[in-house]
Amino acid sequence: MKYTTSEKDILSFLTSYNGISRKQLADISDLSGASITKITKKLIDDQFIIEGERISSGLGRKEVLLYSNPQKFTFLGIDIGGYLVRFALSNNSMEVLHKEEFFMAELDESQNKGEALLDRLIHFLERSHTLPTSIDAIGIGVTGLVDREQQTILNIPNRKGWDDIQLIVIFQQAFSCPIYLDEGGRTMAVAEKTLGKAKEIRDFIVVQIGFGIVSGIMINDQLLRGSSNVSSLFGHITADENAGRCLCGNYGCLENIITFPMLEIEYKKRNGQYASIVEAYEHKDKIAIGICIDTGKALGIALSNVVNLFNPSAIYIGGPIFDSLPILLEETKRTIILRANRFATLALSLEENSFGQQQGIMGALIFAKTNLIAEL
Ligand SMILES: [Zn+2]
Repeated sequence: MKYTTSEKDILSFLTSYNGISRKQLADISDLSGASITKITKKLIDDQFIIEGERISSGLGRKEVLLYSNPQKFTFLGIDIGGYLVRFALSNNSMEVLHKEEFFMAELDESQNKGEALLDRLIHFLERSHTLPTSIDAIGIGVTGLVDREQQTILNIPNRKGWDDIQLIVIFQQAFSCPIYLDEGGRTMAVAEKTLGKAKEIRDFIVVQIGFGIVSGIMINDQLLRGSSNVSSLFGHITADENAGRCLCGNYGCLENIITFPMLEIEYKKRNGQYASIVEAYEHKDKIAIGICIDTGKALGIALSNVVNLFNPSAIYIGGPIFDSLPILLEETKRTIILRANRFATLALSLEENSFGQQQGIMGALIFAKTNLIAEL
């Protein structure tokens, strides 16, 4: 069954604005009221969408709100980070039904990473009482490099043994549904665009910092990929050429300065006396605060360069380091205002991302849905 571009657009709007009237759909889609009536009737008949409550819209008659039919599809999301792997199942309204996570290091000893991951996944589905045949699409976000044509993982810089993994071929042993694979920063950007704060924003950047750095850049509503699908390697921008060697092989990468483990190493290097930089920060320890200022500045300089290059409207930032060390984010903001071109920062907003530590898994889930809609 093939659906028209307008019908798919309406499904996309319903994904972003769940609970929307036909009149509001006409306003945001540039389609006529008659077209919206016809399209929504077809989508209701095909059980993609359902009618909900009536709301009053001023003096006119009451409007019925439309919703994605939660039962229509089940999505499986897989977020392969440098530190954690997350699995989640959602319904078609993007409500997470089941989720689990485990340490990436638990797969270190496995000779065949793809098979080991599939094994974990099958057990997750069993615990969730979900059959592989009931999954309609799978989205996978990887904190690493992905071959877009071959749909393989080329490399995960922070982990050994994750080179040239034919993940989709392996997963096809157990699943017959479509499987979509992309770099994690890009799937996070799709989550921000579709379900988060960037619904109305065409040019923005998502940056997530935990044990590694991932980022996704959207320009004019399109994901930036570059000629070899290697763009947005924000964590591997050289921030201090005198800093140590990064796991990617280069020296002084931003990721070598500002991830959680690197902040801890720096704290020890500066003879910090508390057990961790977070504990030290909570006690207003000067060494911890000094490290936050220095690293916030490094991140701010790197982001200023990105702002000058791409002139985004918004930067959505997230990760546990900002929750635990808030002064770091303040210094980052201060540095961007100081360093980036003042015309580029006039309308720039720097905000926390929409899903916190769930940004990666929400990205994987929504990536499954947006790709599935595109193929209907
Ligand atoms: Zn690097």
